[in-house]
Amino acid sequence: MPGIRGLFIPGPTNVPDRVRRAMDIPMEDQRAPDLPQFTLPLLEDVKKVFKSRTGQVFLFPASGTGGWEAALTNTLSPGDKVLAARFGQFSHLWIDMCIRLGLEVDVVDVPWGEGVPADVFAARLKADRAHKIKAVLVTHNETATGVTSDVAAVRRALDEAQHPAFLFADGVSSIASIDFRMEDWRVDVAVSGSQKGFMLPPGLAILCVSQKVLAQAESAKSRRCYFDFADMARANKDGYFPYTPPTHLFRALRASIDLLFEEGLDHVFARHHRLAQGVRKAVEAWGLKLCATEPRWHSDTVSAICLPEGFDSNEFVRHAYRTYGLSLGVGLSKVAGRVFRIGHLGDLNELMVLQALSGVELTLRDQGVPFSVGSGVAAAIEHFHHTRPAQLAKAA
Ligand SMILES: *Cc1c(COP(=O)(O)O)cnc(C)c1O
Repeated sequence: MPGIRGLFIPGPTNVPDRVRRAMDIPMEDQRAPDLPQFTLPLLEDVKKVFKSRTGQVFLFPASGTGGWEAALTNTLSPGDKVLAARFGQFSHLWIDMCIRLGLEVDVVDVPWGEGVPADVFAARLKADRAHKIKAVLVTHNETATGVTSDVAAVRRALDEAQHPAFLFADGVSSIASIDFRMEDWRVDVAVSGSQKGFMLPPGLAILCVSQKVLAQAESAKSRRCYFDFADMARANKDGYFPYTPPTHLFRALRASIDLLFEEGLDHVFARHHRLAQGVRKAVEAWGLKLCATEPRWHSDTVSAICLPEGFDSNEFVRHAYRTYGLSLGVGLSKVAGRVFRIGHLGDLNELMVLQALSGVELTLRDQGVPFSVGSGVAAAIEHFHHTRPAQLAKAA
């Protein structure tokens, strides 16, 4: 197929040219005496993306799932109880991992399309006077349903119950795209991955860990080896790694963090919000519904969109790919066949969003879904026009 293909899955996301070029270098010496001059500032700068001052960053060769495992095995012992809500495929998989690692999970099932029920968490934490719950798990952005949850509300629930449990956040599809405040929310372990907001190829689990966790890690009896925080911390202290590090991904990470800082994190978040609003305006104009049931759950990185009864979203996504080279996300698990997803995160601008929306309109038209052709693209254009960043508006 000639021309540029459209990658609008919620990860892997588009990798900026500057990041790709940063990897086009000869292989490096992993024990070179000058490597720490590169790695030590890199670890410090990653921390800023998590908005952490006192935490410690870990980079494991893995994907986000490896980050989940590192978070759990370094902090908990088999039989420990954790509190978690299930409202999509990713929150489901993290809970499944807890069970497979021998943890006891107090699962709060929530309809898919809603987020973490902070009030239910508050009640469970208050009732747990013996402090049997050792950790509370929050999927900050549920990528399967396009739902963002309120981590600060869960922190308040813990504080109000004066509960000492750890607070863990999965920020794989939020960190570096949606505001995340490790320090303010006193998150104990935040997990991310390279291939979403960080705009890198897959291959890194990126974590930030509180001093509280590091101080207590020795008492965690879960078996761990490759993902051991202590081994990693010991080598990282001098800027090295306990096993061969993926230095090319580190070079890419350096470039992506430079891009994020040059734009400014707050501008990055504002851009994601504005582009996401454009997508949501389009969905509304098409007469379709988001899987996220209320505006407070709307995700600025991914929109899961319900097709009307009688249409198969798997076929829809296949058609878009085969006919137009447009990659959209499929519906996962419970919502398979019913929703398709537009990933709108990372290296993204208005014209790219309009490309995705046009592709969706073409596909809606081909598949015979009733809607007014051009309505979504027009609604997004109006939104982008009226919300132009100030300096553009002035120049016009
Ligand atoms: C992508 C993702 C993960 C991790 O997936 P990997 O494929 O292991 O990188 C975890 N949680 C959420 C919310 C995600 O979006």
